[in-house]
Amino acid sequence: MGLKIYLDGKLVGEEEAKISVFDHGLLYGDGVFEGIRAYNGLIFKLEEHLDRLYNSARAIMLKIPLDKKEMKEAVLMTVRANKLANAYIRLVVTRGKGDLGLDPRKCPRPTVFIIASTIKLYPRELYYKGLEVITVPTNRNTVSAIDPQIKSLNYLNNILAKIEANLVEVPEAIMLNKDGYVLECTGDNIFIVRNGVLITPPTYLGVLAGITRNTVLELAGKLKIDAREEVFSRYSLYNADECFLTGTAAEIIPVVRVDGRVIGDGRPGRISLRLMKAFWKLTKKEGTPIYKRGMM
Ligand code: PMP
Repeated sequence: MGLKIYLDGKLVGEEEAKISVFDHGLLYGDGVFEGIRAYNGLIFKLEEHLDRLYNSARAIMLKIPLDKKEMKEAVLMTVRANKLANAYIRLVVTRGKGDLGLDPRKCPRPTVFIIASTIKLYPRELYYKGLEVITVPTNRNTVSAIDPQIKSLNYLNNILAKIEANLVEVPEAIMLNKDGYVLECTGDNIFIVRNGVLITPPTYLGVLAGITRNTVLELAGKLKIDAREEVFSRYSLYNADECFLTGTAAEIIPVVRVDGRVIGDGRPGRISLRLMKAFWKLTKKEGTPIYKRGMM
């Protein structure tokens, strides 16, 4: 049985969920999106994801045809229709159908669709073994061109970096800015630990304000781990005691090798493991309930 997809106000079968070839989301990557997780019947950080979606849309002057409350209901309805308790939810708003020119004023109605499905995860053992990653030649988009804080459908910058990682068969790529400062990965934020201090690049430098990143910063506060948003280069990365990536899909995943340099002692670090544990605990108990008791 196929999935039930939310498309412009209606739930339709997967086969019927079709979008026009004139949709500017497709023609130009003109649109915004979110990737959201549900754990054990609870949607994790739903309000935060909706806030970011509406901020991304505002930044590109895209008026979403639903208010946040209606969007929240649409998300819940889609997850319920697919009878999911653990899910990966993709929420997309495109500029909609227009003509072949790129003028967004020719697109009268944004397209909204929601896919609630499951997710293929990194194997569990990798979280205890750690990843090997590289820094890549493709720089992250600059703030003055396309601010990476806009979670837009235009992911070619990230895809180019992903191709560079694929070519040497590593699962993620660390992207830098033109000055060589570390920004983020193709689909994850990055953290390092040096001398007991947790450090992640500040968003003004040109990184997505990741929801998982923010959760980790909050958890660090609770666990009394000194955390800072600070600019750092590959030098600090290579000399870090610990390194990990964060994202809705990846959660918190340790990195043990960067550009052939072993990080710390080559195993996930103590602070990384503490944060992973705290994060998983949080996902089990916090979130927007999908079902009222006895509904599923
Ligand atoms: N950076 C980029 C470029 C991403 O695509 C993502 C995934 N949405 C992240 C960081 C992590 O963000 P989040 O924790 O909100 O999933």
